[in-house]
Amino acid sequence: MTEPLLIPCPHCNGLNRIPAARLADTPRCGRCKAEVLPGQPIELTQANFASQLKGDLPLLVDVWADWCGPCKAFAPTFHQAAGQLQGRCRLGKLDSEAHRQLAGQLGIRSIPSLLLFKGGREVARQSGALPLPQLLAWLAGQGL
Ligand SMILES: [Zn+2]
Repeated sequence: MTEPLLIPCPHCNGLNRIPAARLADTPRCGRCKAEVLPGQPIELTQANFASQLKGDLPLLVDVWADWCGPCKAFAPTFHQAAGQLQGRCRLGKLDSEAHRQLAGQLGIRSIPSLLLFKGGREVARQSGALPLPQLLAWLAGQGL
């Protein structure tokens, strides 16, 4: 038996313990009953970022802004990636305009920027959008 994975709820930030074999079964939060792995990007904010960094699944962050054309063009690709990576990697979007302080702390100099976190630490960063196959290949290169 492997240890259950710790995964934060995207809705209430509560940490859930989910057996690896159940990841594909639409697990729901023990506290608020929201889907723990919704298969789409979650919204990251100054308030939930630290909580969402926790847990055993990597977190891929898309830093974007409403005025950024390439960011908007990339959004459907990121959404697709969330579906393909469900149960392996969590995806979140950070609006750098709404959360300037956090974007500053992360050292964001250009958008879109993709940041991959494992165990709460940044392990890889990509500046600029990627087509879906290249995005998945980049993540594969990071062990995903
Ligand atoms: Zn919850």
